[in-house]
Amino acid sequence: MPGYTQSIQNLMNELARLPGIGARSAERIAFHLLKQEPQEAMKLAEAIREVKTRIKHCSVCYNLTEQDPCGICADAGRDHSLVCVVEQPKDLLALESTGLYKGVYHVLLGRIAPLEESHPQDLTIDALVKRLEAGGIREIIMGTNPTVDGDGTALYIQNLIASRFPQVQVTRLARGLPAGSNIEYANKNILADAISGRQKM
Ligand SMILES: [Zn+2]
Repeated sequence: MPGYTQSIQNLMNELARLPGIGARSAERIAFHLLKQEPQEAMKLAEAIREVKTRIKHCSVCYNLTEQDPCGICADAGRDHSLVCVVEQPKDLLALESTGLYKGVYHVLLGRIAPLEESHPQDLTIDALVKRLEAGGIREIIMGTNPTVDGDGTALYIQNLIASRFPQVQVTRLARGLPAGSNIEYANKNILADAISGRQKM
């Protein structure tokens, strides 16, 4: 896009790096922002600044939170011996929306995907091992997505737990979830069934 001033070009470049935004959309959004009143456009900048300064990962479960530990980890009313392992914070939110799960979580912040150069050491698996070493966990529920990579990740963690923590039971969310689907898009009833019908791996 030659001809734009440097600052407009910078804005379009940054917008075009966002997921799902191509060069065309970046141009359209940039000109929309230029047309807006300054205080209106700055709301977006402020929202980005706020989310990046206030939101962090819980030091226990890696959920996104404004307080550390997060509200779920700090809740004494939940079953801390039951840990559901999910790929992303949005999966945790989907499971929480069922209102049925009373355990706690561990967010991997990804999945093992060799083709995408995502390896076990890139995830929060070390932190999960530390939680297991600390004791008090009786069951790990693998809540990774029912995809090839999600299943592979679940299997990797199951093997790890079986070899180092044989006293800990490992279960998998029930197969009410369609294969290849994403937990974040599943409806509440299906997720509720997947939790209650979980099976030993
Ligand atoms: Zn937490």
